[in-house]
Amino acid sequence: MVHFVGAGPGAPDLITVRGYNLLRQADVVVYAGSLVNPELLQGCKPGCRCYNSAKMTLEEVVSVLESASKNGCEVVRLHTGDPALYGAIREQMEALDALGVPWDVTPGVSSFSAAAAVMGAEYTLPGVSQTVILTRCAGRTPVPEGEALSSLASHGASMVLFLSTGLAEQVQADLLAGGYDPDTPAAVVYKASWPEERILRCTVGTLAGTVAASGLKQTALITVGDFLSGTVERSKLYDPGFSHGWREAKP
Ligand code: SAH
Repeated sequence: MVHFVGAGPGAPDLITVRGYNLLRQADVVVYAGSLVNPELLQGCKPGCRCYNSAKMTLEEVVSVLESASKNGCEVVRLHTGDPALYGAIREQMEALDALGVPWDVTPGVSSFSAAAAVMGAEYTLPGVSQTVILTRCAGRTPVPEGEALSSLASHGASMVLFLSTGLAEQVQADLLAGGYDPDTPAAVVYKASWPEERILRCTVGTLAGTVAASGLKQTALITVGDFLSGTVERSKLYDPGFSHGWREAKP
């Protein structure tokens, strides 16, 4: 059996209990070495074979997963954050299906959740934005037509950009072209939950300069939107004058 497991954003104690238990029981682990914290592998049992997929092709990964699983091993395919976001898991699932290898998925804490946590931020604020757009800037890998950053930017929603810090100039230009005010708050979060974590607060208009001055290129998220600014309207959920299924309004 192959278990796709979300490793979480970096801090070893941000993997789920289920993911950690699978990792402890695994005979073979294939981990995304460019982003997964290697400290997590210290929880593996003695003799567990660990492969760094950063150096492997899809064919090589699938071959390791298949042969280990068919030899009766418990196999963990460890992806960073939550595997359902930019994890390239679907192609592995389809290859395993074609080979008759069973698999399941254990979700993880995505880096976009960790970024909000370390900033003490909430993406969905009443009266500010009730939508979070998770996306990336087109670079060497294109994005589908209709998902151009400038068109997504036209919503003015809270936005989180993965895999785009190396393209900050383009990101800034697209966000401005899409209609964000240059003063809209932005923040670049590098290695959320790792010891070397950094938070660079800026605005859409100063984003590219801030990223260039920091030298950051990888393992960072760009977050954008008025959710990062100071003033907040209170929620209906906890408003004494608002009734809902669990509580009557107080006069
Ligand atoms: N599945 C992962 C995303 C993988 S794509 C998740 O759910 O988080 C890799 C990108 O994720 C990186 O380029 C970076 O943009 C982001 N990323 C991953 N870990 C991060 C972290 N700890 N802090 C900030 N960004 C991170």
